[in-house]
Amino acid sequence: MNQCNRVFIIGWDGAGNFVRGAHTPVLDRLIQRGAIAFDAQTASPTISAQCWGALLHGVSPVKHGLTNDIAAERTFPSDSSYPSVFRVAREAYPDAKLAAFSAWEPINYGIIEPSIGVRKVSMPDRELAYAAASYIGEHPDVLLMFIDFDLPDAAGHRHGYNTPEQLRVIEETDEHTGIIVDAIEKAGLLEDSLIITVSDHGGGGEDTHGHGTDHPLDKTIFWGCAGPGIAPGTRVRGITITDTAAVVAHALGVAAPAAWEAKLPAGLFNSI
Ligand SMILES: [Zn+2]
Repeated sequence: MNQCNRVFIIGWDGAGNFVRGAHTPVLDRLIQRGAIAFDAQTASPTISAQCWGALLHGVSPVKHGLTNDIAAERTFPSDSSYPSVFRVAREAYPDAKLAAFSAWEPINYGIIEPSIGVRKVSMPDRELAYAAASYIGEHPDVLLMFIDFDLPDAAGHRHGYNTPEQLRVIEETDEHTGIIVDAIEKAGLLEDSLIITVSDHGGGGEDTHGHGTDHPLDKTIFWGCAGPGIAPGTRVRGITITDTAAVVAHALGVAAPAAWEAKLPAGLFNSI
Protein backbone atom coordinates (compact mmCIF):
# COMPACT_ATOMS: atom_id res chain seq x y z
CA MET A 1 0.00 0.00 0.00
CA ASN A 2 1.33 3.41 -0.94
CA GLN A 3 1.65 6.06 1.68
CA CYS A 4 -0.61 9.08 1.19
CA ASN A 5 1.56 12.06 0.37
CA ARG A 6 -1.08 14.70 -0.38
CA VAL A 7 -4.81 15.39 -0.45
CA PHE A 8 -7.01 16.99 -3.09
CA ILE A 9 -10.62 17.92 -2.23
CA ILE A 10 -12.78 18.68 -5.27
CA GLY A 11 -16.12 20.27 -4.36
CA TRP A 12 -19.20 20.48 -6.58
CA ASP A 13 -21.49 23.16 -5.13
CA GLY A 14 -25.18 22.29 -5.13
CA ALA A 15 -24.78 18.93 -6.89
CA GLY A 16 -26.37 16.94 -4.02
CA ASN A 17 -26.44 13.30 -5.03
CA PHE A 18 -27.88 14.17 -8.44
CA VAL A 19 -24.64 12.94 -10.02
CA ARG A 20 -26.33 9.53 -10.16
CA GLY A 21 -28.59 10.77 -12.97
CA ALA A 22 -25.79 12.38 -14.97
CA HIS A 23 -23.07 11.01 -17.25
CA THR A 24 -19.94 11.53 -15.17
CA PRO A 25 -17.11 9.32 -16.48
CA VAL A 26 -14.40 11.07 -14.44
CA LEU A 27 -16.29 10.67 -11.17
CA ASP A 28 -17.19 7.08 -12.11
CA ARG A 29 -13.52 6.24 -12.57
CA LEU A 30 -12.64 7.73 -9.18
CA ILE A 31 -15.49 5.79 -7.59
CA GLN A 32 -14.23 2.55 -9.15
CA ARG A 33 -10.80 3.19 -7.66
CA GLY A 34 -12.11 4.02 -4.21
CA ALA A 35 -15.02 4.63 -1.89
CA ILE A 36 -18.41 6.26 -2.40
CA ALA A 37 -21.52 7.22 -0.50
CA PHE A 38 -24.54 8.55 -2.35
CA ASP A 39 -26.43 9.05 0.91
CA ALA A 40 -23.90 11.16 2.79
CA GLN A 41 -25.48 13.94 4.86
CA THR A 42 -24.48 17.56 4.82
CA ALA A 43 -24.78 20.06 7.67
CA SER A 44 -27.85 22.10 8.58
CA PRO A 45 -28.84 24.56 7.33
CA THR A 46 -28.03 23.29 3.84
CA ILE A 47 -26.35 26.50 2.71
CA SER A 48 -22.87 26.83 1.20
CA ALA A 49 -20.93 28.71 3.90
CA GLN A 50 -22.42 26.56 6.64
CA CYS A 51 -21.65 23.34 4.75
CA TRP A 52 -18.20 24.14 3.31
CA GLY A 53 -17.46 25.57 6.76
CA ALA A 54 -18.39 22.21 8.33
CA LEU A 55 -16.19 20.35 5.84
CA LEU A 56 -13.18 22.61 6.31
CA HIS A 57 -13.47 23.22 10.08
CA GLY A 58 -14.68 19.78 11.19
CA VAL A 59 -17.62 21.11 13.22
CA SER A 60 -21.29 21.91 12.70
CA PRO A 61 -22.44 25.43 11.73
CA VAL A 62 -23.59 26.26 15.29
CA LYS A 63 -19.95 25.97 16.30
CA HIS A 64 -18.06 27.52 13.38
CA GLY A 65 -20.67 30.28 13.11
CA LEU A 66 -20.25 30.89 9.38
CA THR A 67 -23.08 32.12 7.14
CA ASN A 68 -22.86 33.29 3.53
CA ASP A 69 -22.94 36.93 4.73
CA ILE A 70 -20.31 36.43 7.41
CA ALA A 71 -18.03 34.54 5.00
CA ALA A 72 -18.40 37.36 2.46
CA GLU A 73 -17.69 40.15 4.94
CA ARG A 74 -15.24 38.90 7.57
CA THR A 75 -12.13 36.78 7.84
CA PHE A 76 -12.20 33.61 9.94
CA PRO A 77 -10.42 34.05 13.29
CA SER A 78 -6.95 32.49 13.22
CA ASP A 79 -7.18 31.61 16.94
CA SER A 80 -10.52 29.74 16.75
CA SER A 81 -10.77 26.41 18.62
CA TYR A 82 -12.14 25.03 15.35
CA PRO A 83 -9.20 25.39 12.99
CA SER A 84 -9.64 24.56 9.33
CA VAL A 85 -7.86 21.58 7.80
CA PHE A 86 -5.55 24.16 6.25
CA ARG A 87 -4.54 25.61 9.63
CA VAL A 88 -4.07 22.09 11.03
CA ALA A 89 -1.87 21.20 8.04
CA ARG A 90 0.07 24.45 8.36
CA GLU A 91 0.78 23.93 12.06
CA ALA A 92 2.06 20.40 11.40
CA TYR A 93 3.98 21.28 8.24
CA PRO A 94 5.26 24.87 8.38
CA ASP A 95 6.80 24.77 4.90
CA ALA A 96 4.17 22.77 3.01
CA LYS A 97 2.43 24.10 -0.07
CA LEU A 98 -1.28 24.58 0.54
CA ALA A 99 -3.75 25.86 -2.06
CA ALA A 100 -7.42 26.78 -2.34
CA PHE A 101 -8.89 27.36 -5.79
CA SER A 102 -12.49 28.42 -5.17
CA ALA A 103 -14.92 29.73 -7.77
CA TRP A 104 -16.98 31.04 -4.84
CA GLU A 105 -14.64 33.62 -3.35
CA PRO A 106 -15.93 33.64 0.28
CA ILE A 107 -14.45 30.15 0.77
CA ASN A 108 -10.98 31.56 0.19
CA TYR A 109 -11.32 34.79 2.11
CA GLY A 110 -14.03 34.15 4.70
CA ILE A 111 -13.91 30.42 5.52
CA ILE A 112 -10.19 29.60 5.31
CA GLU A 113 -8.09 31.60 7.75
CA PRO A 114 -5.98 34.47 6.39
CA SER A 115 -2.21 34.63 6.84
CA ILE A 116 -1.49 30.91 7.01
CA GLY A 117 0.24 30.79 3.67
CA VAL A 118 -2.49 29.25 1.54
CA ARG A 119 -2.25 30.09 -2.16
CA LYS A 120 -5.77 31.38 -2.91
CA VAL A 121 -7.26 31.76 -6.39
CA SER A 122 -10.83 32.64 -7.40
CA MET A 123 -12.14 32.60 -10.97
CA PRO A 124 -15.02 31.05 -12.95
CA ASP A 125 -15.16 27.25 -13.06
CA ARG A 126 -13.55 26.43 -16.40
CA GLU A 127 -10.68 28.89 -16.02
CA LEU A 128 -10.32 27.71 -12.44
CA ALA A 129 -9.92 24.10 -13.60
CA TYR A 130 -7.11 25.06 -15.97
CA ALA A 131 -5.46 27.31 -13.38
CA ALA A 132 -5.60 24.52 -10.78
CA ALA A 133 -4.18 22.06 -13.32
CA SER A 134 -1.28 24.44 -14.04
CA TYR A 135 -0.67 24.89 -10.33
CA ILE A 136 -0.46 21.11 -9.85
CA GLY A 137 2.00 20.81 -12.76
CA GLU A 138 4.17 23.56 -11.32
CA HIS A 139 3.85 22.50 -7.66
CA PRO A 140 3.74 18.69 -7.55
CA ASP A 141 4.88 18.97 -3.93
CA VAL A 142 1.55 20.54 -2.88
CA LEU A 143 0.31 18.90 0.34
CA LEU A 144 -3.34 19.96 0.50
CA MET A 145 -5.45 21.49 -2.23
CA PHE A 146 -9.13 22.39 -2.19
CA ILE A 147 -10.93 23.13 -5.43
CA ASP A 148 -14.52 24.37 -5.51
CA PHE A 149 -16.71 24.46 -8.61
CA ASP A 150 -19.79 26.64 -8.38
CA LEU A 151 -21.77 26.07 -11.59
CA PRO A 152 -24.04 23.17 -10.49
CA ASP A 153 -25.58 25.38 -7.79
CA ALA A 154 -25.98 28.32 -10.16
CA ALA A 155 -27.77 25.99 -12.61
CA GLY A 156 -29.99 24.65 -9.82
CA HIS A 157 -31.09 28.14 -8.82
CA ARG A 158 -31.69 29.08 -12.42
CA HIS A 159 -33.29 25.96 -13.89
CA GLY A 160 -34.29 23.91 -10.84
CA TYR A 161 -32.32 21.18 -9.06
CA ASN A 162 -32.03 17.72 -10.57
CA THR A 163 -33.46 18.98 -13.88
CA PRO A 164 -31.98 18.07 -17.28
CA GLU A 165 -30.46 21.55 -17.39
CA GLN A 166 -28.71 21.13 -14.05
CA LEU A 167 -27.56 17.61 -14.93
CA ARG A 168 -25.94 19.00 -18.09
CA VAL A 169 -23.97 21.45 -15.94
CA ILE A 170 -23.05 18.65 -13.52
CA GLU A 171 -21.63 16.82 -16.56
CA GLU A 172 -19.61 19.94 -17.40
CA THR A 173 -18.29 19.93 -13.84
CA ASP A 174 -17.23 16.32 -14.35
CA GLU A 175 -15.21 17.51 -17.35
CA HIS A 176 -13.66 20.26 -15.23
CA THR A 177 -12.81 17.66 -12.60
CA GLY A 178 -11.22 15.62 -15.39
CA ILE A 179 -8.87 18.52 -16.19
CA ILE A 180 -7.66 18.36 -12.59
CA VAL A 181 -7.41 14.57 -12.38
CA ASP A 182 -5.47 14.56 -15.68
CA ALA A 183 -3.02 17.08 -14.21
CA ILE A 184 -2.64 14.93 -11.08
CA GLU A 185 -1.96 11.89 -13.26
CA LYS A 186 0.42 13.73 -15.61
CA ALA A 187 2.43 14.93 -12.62
CA GLY A 188 2.76 11.30 -11.47
CA LEU A 189 0.72 11.95 -8.32
CA LEU A 190 -2.32 9.73 -8.83
CA GLU A 191 -1.17 6.69 -6.87
CA ASP A 192 -0.08 8.42 -3.67
CA SER A 193 -2.74 11.15 -3.46
CA LEU A 194 -6.08 11.00 -1.69
CA ILE A 195 -8.74 12.55 -3.93
CA ILE A 196 -12.02 13.46 -2.25
CA THR A 197 -15.01 14.48 -4.38
CA VAL A 198 -17.98 15.95 -2.57
CA SER A 199 -20.95 18.26 -2.82
CA ASP A 200 -21.96 20.75 -0.12
CA HIS A 201 -25.74 20.37 -0.49
CA GLY A 202 -28.48 19.46 -2.95
CA GLY A 203 -31.62 21.44 -3.64
CA GLY A 204 -35.24 21.28 -4.72
CA GLY A 205 -36.48 20.08 -1.33
CA GLU A 206 -39.14 22.63 -0.45
CA ASP A 207 -38.26 25.02 -3.25
CA THR A 208 -37.56 23.61 -6.73
CA HIS A 209 -35.03 26.41 -7.33
CA GLY A 210 -33.52 26.67 -3.86
CA HIS A 211 -32.07 24.87 -0.83
CA GLY A 212 -31.50 25.43 2.85
CA THR A 213 -33.99 23.01 4.47
CA ASP A 214 -33.52 19.57 6.02
CA HIS A 215 -35.49 17.93 3.20
CA PRO A 216 -33.58 14.87 1.92
CA LEU A 217 -33.18 16.49 -1.52
CA ASP A 218 -31.33 19.41 0.09
CA LYS A 219 -29.52 17.37 2.70
CA THR A 220 -28.23 14.32 0.79
CA ILE A 221 -24.88 14.59 -0.97
CA PHE A 222 -22.40 12.35 -2.73
CA TRP A 223 -19.05 11.75 -1.02
CA GLY A 224 -16.27 9.96 -2.85
CA CYS A 225 -12.70 9.21 -1.92
CA ALA A 226 -9.91 7.40 -3.76
CA GLY A 227 -6.29 6.86 -2.91
CA PRO A 228 -3.83 4.97 -0.70
CA GLY A 229 -5.50 2.69 1.83
CA ILE A 230 -8.96 2.87 0.25
CA ALA A 231 -10.13 -0.42 -1.20
CA PRO A 232 -11.85 -0.15 -4.60
CA GLY A 233 -15.61 -0.54 -4.30
CA THR A 234 -15.79 0.53 -0.64
CA ARG A 235 -19.26 1.72 0.36
CA VAL A 236 -19.08 4.39 3.03
CA ARG A 237 -21.91 4.37 5.56
CA GLY A 238 -23.11 7.09 7.87
CA ILE A 239 -20.69 9.77 6.74
CA THR A 240 -21.39 13.48 7.12
CA ILE A 241 -19.73 16.39 5.37
CA THR A 242 -18.10 17.33 8.70
CA ASP A 243 -16.28 13.98 8.80
CA THR A 244 -14.29 15.01 5.71
CA ALA A 245 -11.95 17.00 7.97
CA ALA A 246 -11.06 13.86 9.94
CA VAL A 247 -10.38 11.94 6.73
CA VAL A 248 -8.03 14.70 5.54
CA ALA A 249 -6.19 14.81 8.89
CA HIS A 250 -5.79 11.01 8.91
CA ALA A 251 -4.50 10.99 5.34
CA LEU A 252 -1.96 13.72 6.12
CA GLY A 253 -0.85 11.91 9.27
CA VAL A 254 -1.82 14.71 11.64
CA ALA A 255 -3.97 14.55 14.77
CA ALA A 256 -7.49 15.90 14.47
CA PRO A 257 -8.06 18.78 16.95
CA ALA A 258 -9.95 17.63 20.04
CA ALA A 259 -12.67 20.23 19.43
CA TRP A 260 -13.56 18.83 16.03
CA GLU A 261 -16.77 16.79 15.75
CA ALA A 262 -15.44 15.12 12.60
CA LYS A 263 -15.13 11.33 12.92
CA LEU A 264 -13.20 8.96 10.71
CA PRO A 265 -15.82 6.73 9.02
CA ALA A 266 -15.41 3.11 10.12
CA GLY A 267 -14.13 0.86 7.38
CA LEU A 268 -13.00 3.65 5.06
CA PHE A 269 -9.29 2.97 5.33
CA ASN A 270 -8.06 -0.61 5.05
CA SER A 271 -6.07 -0.31 8.24
CA ILE A 272 -9.10 0.42 10.43
ZN1 LIG B 1 -27.20 27.99 -3.65
